[in-house]
Amino acid sequence: MAQKEKKLNGTVIVTYRCNARCSMCNRYKAPSRPDEEISIETIKKLPKMYFTNITGGEPFIRTDLKDIVRELYKHSDRIVISTNGFFTDRIVDLCKEFPQIGIRISIEGLEKTNNEIRGLENGYQRGYQTLKTLREMGMKDVGFGMTVQDKNAPDLVPLYEISNEMGMEFATASLHNSFYFVENKNIIHDRPMVAKNFENLVNELLKSNSPKKWFRAYFNHGLINYIYGQKRLLPCDMSFDTFFIDPYGDVMPCNGTKDKEVMGNLNTQTWDELWNSKEAEEVRKKVRHCDRNCWMIGSVSPAMHKYIWKPATWVIIHKFKALFTKHPYSMYENKICRDYRDGKVTKKDLDKCSTCDLRNTVNDGLSEASKEQLKDKTGEEIVDADIASQIQE
Ligand code: SF4
Repeated sequence: MAQKEKKLNGTVIVTYRCNARCSMCNRYKAPSRPDEEISIETIKKLPKMYFTNITGGEPFIRTDLKDIVRELYKHSDRIVISTNGFFTDRIVDLCKEFPQIGIRISIEGLEKTNNEIRGLENGYQRGYQTLKTLREMGMKDVGFGMTVQDKNAPDLVPLYEISNEMGMEFATASLHNSFYFVENKNIIHDRPMVAKNFENLVNELLKSNSPKKWFRAYFNHGLINYIYGQKRLLPCDMSFDTFFIDPYGDVMPCNGTKDKEVMGNLNTQTWDELWNSKEAEEVRKKVRHCDRNCWMIGSVSPAMHKYIWKPATWVIIHKFKALFTKHPYSMYENKICRDYRDGKVTKKDLDKCSTCDLRNTVNDGLSEASKEQLKDKTGEEIVDADIASQIQE
């Protein structure tokens, strides 16, 4: 009997160009050159996937995104695009052709907080309006994505409530450092305050009747564990049945590593060659010993499916508790939260457990040609000029 083909979970970073100016990500300062960005020919070489996330940079900066999506649907059962929601017309246009696609718009809090963090003029209104328009069009798989930090943590539950009213998905993350974000200084300062806001969200999610939200509650419980710098609640199996591919065709395990880790290049190799290469095996060895303990949906969602009994047990316990109390979850279930509250560990101890590294410069993973263009212009100038010329055309 023919062996059933194993489908993977893939993320395609279609560009490193971005028009936002987020405070927690410097990618906008380090754009890729459009002529070097992943081509349809390379995308054709991707394997079968059960899920594909298209991300950037800002994916809708690419004017051929529709062609990319069309090709990716030949490989993937489900596609979700992560975007800042700025290019409303392009998003709406793409969704007309692909009504089954998922769209996640990053919104970093209520209006004032969002615009301060994302540095996009009118960013909140544009993002919100885009989401509303997509909803009105009958798009089912749309939602918000929020990266929680000190500044926006108090907006966490209010934003969740807005997403609920609009009948949308609400995805959360917290600060990470990596070459992908061109950032190594991200850190949560007031951990108990941020954790308290996550605790409130977890309790809200547990109140719902949706099993999907109960598992989201577990994910947010994991975010508390993460911001206190603890070992991941679930193993990280990135690069085993999951991959990222960047604009240069470089296939990587994930987007959380300090430096770019490359398993192979799909511009020059076939998928099977690179996936079974010595380099890929070396990367997998590093993943097995990785101590960065990321907790991002890209690496956690596959782990939650694979080790389902662990989140499922947590959900059953907390749903049971919910029968007797309105607050079935407390952040102090995490030993580290109790230890910090009780003075057994200090802020300095916890800071040391984070990936924040003020001593080292950050590697941006750009190609030589992309670096070259930054010699006499900033990334912002390059991308602004690029968008201006697109609009004129
Ligand atoms: S913990 Fe996993 S996702 Fe994070 S850097 Fe390590 S291998 Fe990548």
